[in-house]
Amino acid sequence: MSDNIYIKSNYNIFLDNFVIFNLISKNYLQLNESLYSYLKRKNKFAEKDLEGVLDKLLNANIITQDNELLTLDYLYNSLKFDRTKASYIIYPTLTCNFNCNYCFETTKKESLNDSKTIILKNFLTKQTKLLSELSIRWSGGEPLIVWEKIKKITESIIKSDPDLKYNFSLATNGYFITKQIVKELNSLNFSSLQITVDGTRDEHNKIRYTKYDNDTYSSVINGIKIASQKLKVIIRFNVNKDNVSSFDDFLLDLQNHSVNNENIEIFVKPIRPKQDSSFCCDLINDSDFNKNELAFYEIAKNKGFKYSIHPNFNSNLRCLFHHINSFVIDPNLNLYKCAAHVSLNDKKVGIINNSEAVEITNLKYFIKTLSYSPIAIKECRDCSVLPICFGKCPLIWDDTNQPVDIGCIPDKVSYIDKFQQLFSNEK
Ligand code: SF4
Ligand code: SF4
Repeated sequence: MSDNIYIKSNYNIFLDNFVIFNLISKNYLQLNESLYSYLKRKNKFAEKDLEGVLDKLLNANIITQDNELLTLDYLYNSLKFDRTKASYIIYPTLTCNFNCNYCFETTKKESLNDSKTIILKNFLTKQTKLLSELSIRWSGGEPLIVWEKIKKITESIIKSDPDLKYNFSLATNGYFITKQIVKELNSLNFSSLQITVDGTRDEHNKIRYTKYDNDTYSSVINGIKIASQKLKVIIRFNVNKDNVSSFDDFLLDLQNHSVNNENIEIFVKPIRPKQDSSFCCDLINDSDFNKNELAFYEIAKNKGFKYSIHPNFNSNLRCLFHHINSFVIDPNLNLYKCAAHVSLNDKKVGIINNSEAVEITNLKYFIKTLSYSPIAIKECRDCSVLPICFGKCPLIWDDTNQPVDIGCIPDKVSYIDKFQQLFSNEK
């Protein structure tokens, strides 16, 4: 009698409590100890050895007969060219009340004017008729400076198709958050608010200040406190060489201000000044940052805070750069493929024109942005994180001689612990 042979997926994570999580299916199974150990130990299995559990294991992709790289290539390419979805990062203003010296927007003052606001609103409402999923992240500048415009545009999108699958979020410096704004964000179904902090009080105030306020930290912490009562708040802790050891103290301070931990998720990012910005501080390089990533995760866990997993881990793309239908939109309705490109003329790929449609004006560069593939890079093909990462950051990759670990997601070194935490939180 012939017996089918199955192989263990390359993308299983063996977690506590006999749980196996698969990174392709994003499914997990909790097994008995002997089956868990058996699957951990062996790489190939005969059908007769898995009687009674075969279908369950196959459905969760814990075992497979497929070439998994082909599956991942298919998942990546089918989403990359899927025009039924769109994700936009919109900069309604480049104006900011803060003067962070690493930020390129400090010298730019443009905001959406009235006519561009109408074009943008009409473009987005038309999109609701064409799409099955729409994700909009408002950024800036400080987007709450033009909150009334964002509110009106969002209301009209929802009105145009209340049943579409939306995801609205907003990235702010936290200074202008009030109970009223949080109430409005809630009623418009914003999924989260991202607030950036640059260290403990003194460190933050040294980098992030306004013309009239040398203690913006107090307002930002108050904003986090107000927002976390009702909304998911994602705190982005910007790290440089001076504040790399302050993460613990910052979390202690958050605890002392009685924020609502349940609604808070934290992640740490190295500061990367954009073109034409001056330097704020001693920058930490990627490999030093990655070495600290696990320590940040441990500190957050010990203080009772959730630590973010790579935000696109459940998508099949690294970021919107790779998606044919997704763009970063500036206040003049110019289109880019990465937020780091805003205001760089040679990186502009198109515009939302006066007919309220996307017009590609730099086809050569647009095609190049769609030419990257993780499967073409050996390090990615061999990488156990490929199904949650989907390849190098193209900006970093193109700028280097492509050494190992460059342009990777920070989770490459910490993903097992993070999934362990995610699973523990869900139980
Ligand atoms: S973590 Fe690095 S090597 Fe692994 S898939 Fe992502 S970019 Fe490729
Ligand atoms: S910096 Fe790189 S990974 Fe990040 S959004 Fe831009 S292209 Fe994507």
